[in-house]
Amino acid sequence: MKLRNIFKHFGLVVRHKHRVFINCAKCGLIWRGIVHDLSKFTPTEFFESAKFYQGNRSPIGVCRRTKGVSYAWLHHKGRNKHHIEYWLDGDCEVTPLMPYKYAVECVCDKLAATRTYHGKSYAPEKPLEHWLRYGNKVDGNPKTMAFIERVFLDVKEHGEEYVLSGKYMKRVYREVTDESEAEA
Ligand SMILES: [Zn+2]
Repeated sequence: MKLRNIFKHFGLVVRHKHRVFINCAKCGLIWRGIVHDLSKFTPTEFFESAKFYQGNRSPIGVCRRTKGVSYAWLHHKGRNKHHIEYWLDGDCEVTPLMPYKYAVECVCDKLAATRTYHGKSYAPEKPLEHWLRYGNKVDGNPKTMAFIERVFLDVKEHGEEYVLSGKYMKRVYREVTDESEAEA
């Protein structure tokens, strides 16, 4: 493992966390912004991702293709409720709806990651493009999936700032899921 990649990966995680924090804070979820992805600093996640550091795409995909499995991802998705995969149990018929605060964190995460990995080629349609190509292939709760897609459609239409508020998120979450965000 190159020492340089350890520092680069550390910088990438800090930059990503900073972007997610800003997004979450705009939506009124400061605590979610602070604790977002903290498990990336555990040895299981940190060293694998530093080893497969790329800079322009997720090291988890590279590790999966190289080794056939990513222990960092298995560790990460089991502990982070903002991932659709956290809520999946292949042996159960029911996939719970992602509660409001994690669903918003999920969207904030994907928006930040799209910016990080696209750099200068970022455009408002990129989150939706990425979602339709890869994101929506996961077998998540249909209402969770509909919420995420609706937000990215609005980002494409009106830009990121339009969706980054608690008022917008609460309204759309209620509309799409029929659940009051207070109960969720
Ligand atoms: Zn995460």
